[in-house]
This record gives sequence, structure tokens and C-alpha cells, in this order.
Amino acid sequence: MTDHADTATTPGLVCAHHHLYSALARGMPAPPRTPGDFGEILELVWWRLDRALDLESIRWSAMLGALEALERGCTAVIDHHESPEAIEGSLSVVADACAEVGVRVDCSYGVTDRHGPDAARRGLEENARFLAGGGRGRVGVHAAFTCSDETLEAAAGMAVDHGVGVHIHVAEGPIDSDAADRLRHLATDDWLVVHGVHLDDDHGLAGTVVHNPRSNMNNAVGYARPTRFANPVALGSDGIGADMLDEFRVAYFRHREHDVAASPETAWGWLAAGWDLFPEARDDRVTWAYDPMDPWRLAFTPGVGPTRVEVDGEVVWADGAPTRVDADEVRARAAEEASRLHRRLDQT
Ligand SMILES: [Zn+2]
Repeated sequence: MTDHADTATTPGLVCAHHHLYSALARGMPAPPRTPGDFGEILELVWWRLDRALDLESIRWSAMLGALEALERGCTAVIDHHESPEAIEGSLSVVADACAEVGVRVDCSYGVTDRHGPDAARRGLEENARFLAGGGRGRVGVHAAFTCSDETLEAAAGMAVDHGVGVHIHVAEGPIDSDAADRLRHLATDDWLVVHGVHLDDDHGLAGTVVHNPRSNMNNAVGYARPTRFANPVALGSDGIGADMLDEFRVAYFRHREHDVAASPETAWGWLAAGWDLFPEARDDRVTWAYDPMDPWRLAFTPGVGPTRVEVDGEVVWADGAPTRVDADEVRARAAEEASRLHRRLDQT
């Protein structure tokens, strides 16, 4: 192997927190009024969108999201899904769509009491069904502030029973600032503690903190300052695509804005922590159109993309296109589904 091949390749990148269902949100009708804070962004945008999802829109959303991950060298997505009007079977739809494109996925259904105890129970059951069937995943919880203590305990217990962790939003905004007190006795090292913006430095929650710098900026919830935590830190997109080199770059600049002595090696370490959460991605091989793949260079080089992506020994991306699916067809079908979804949203 030449030096060039060594320095222009990496394992498959990992997105440690994604919402593939948000891929069709782009172009959605404007909310009835401009959201004034994080809570209103949830109510007026995301909780309208997730109620309008059916299994067909979930499928094409995941197909498009997986395609967009692959084209940026991301071969493994840790997804967090919610579709209250189409719960049963939804995780299999997401998993099948990713498999069709050739992207690895780790699925969870975000349980919540927002739609009543019956919907919370059905969400838990969807996690259990998927995991019991051999699916790769974790037990999802939306967030402590939309769940009763009973639901949080049930999710944590279910995760233990299946030998997996819990994937949960934690203290993303001030509305969830008591999350640590409600979760501390339940959390274990295999939990994904997503965001943590409003956690105390010594919050005492076990698990990996997943930092989503661009999403936090978009929701104006503040900077998580992840270097203050004792936990491992990984990087997610929170549904804004899966261009993890770009997310690394945003993470670096956000860090640098906070601390002028910050090095891109720190944000690169957060990106690399994804391989601890999704070790199979280490077996994937991405050849990049840039050499060498060095953090100090990449921090200042936007637009670096892959020329070839191998997942589990199979070439799934080459010559600017996916090998398993027709990219134009995926985009066209996703656009049709997006129109249907947006019409339904207009009627709510
Ligand atoms: Zn999220």
C-alpha cells in the first residue's frame, strides 16, 4: 500500500445522533407563528412533523438520509426515531431502508408520554420488538421532560434486559434542566446522553455525551462546552444531514470561539469516539479526495468528500454515485413523499 492510500483513507465515519425522519422536513410549510424558544421549536416544527409521518414517508426519508450519509463518507448512523401515528414497525422500515442503500444503522424509538400512556407503551414495545428480532439498536427515550418517572424506569429496565443502552436527549434546553436529577440513578456507561447543554459540569450521569454543535446553534440553546465533562464525547448531527467532517469543523470552530487555544485534535477525538459506539464502522474504508486526512488541515478545508466507500468489504459508493441504489430515483421518490408530507402538514 502506498503512503497516499494510507493518508487519504479513514474508517467509515459515524454520526452518533441523527433523526433520519427529518430528511423530508426541508421545504416544509412555515409554522403558524415564528417559534420564540426551543420549546416552541419542538411544538411548532418537530412535533407537527412527526405526527404527519406514515411508514411510506419514513421509508423515503431514511433512504434519502442514508444516501446523503454515504455521499459524505458516513457509513454508520445512530438514529433516534419518532412517528406517533405510525409506531409499530417503524424501526424496521428505517433499518431496511438503510440496508438497501448500504449504510449501517442503530435504531431507537423515542418513547414519550406526550401522546398519553398508551402511546408511551407502544413506543416501548416498538423498541422491544425491534431488539428482540435481532435489530441493532438501543432503547430510545425522547427526553425526561416529556416522560413520567415510570416511563423512564421502564425504558431503562428494558435496555438492561436487552443488553443495550438508552438513547435520550438530555438538558438540550432549559426546559429539561432537571433531567440529571431524574436520570442519575438509571444511567449506565452504555447510555447516549444527547446534547447536555444545560447539564452541570459534575452532573454525575454515566454514558457518552453526544455533542451536536450546529443543531444547538440553530435552536439557540447555548454552547454545551463538552470539554468540561468527565464523560466520553461523540459527535452527532441531530438530523441536519450526516456530513460528519463538516460537523467536526463546526465543532472545532464552536470550541475555538469559546477557547482561542483550542486545537482541532479535540473535535477530531469527538468524531473518533463514534467508533467506540459503532465499532463495525472501523471495518469500513473510505478513500477521500484529499490527502492527508489530518485534523489541522481538514478544519480549514471545506467540501472534502469520498471517492470510494466500502462497507463490510462491499463497495457501496464509487465514481460519485451509490452502487446499490439509483440516486436520482431515491431523490425523486423522496421529493414526491416530501410533497405528500408537506400537504398533510398544511392541513394541521
Ligand atoms: Zn435529537
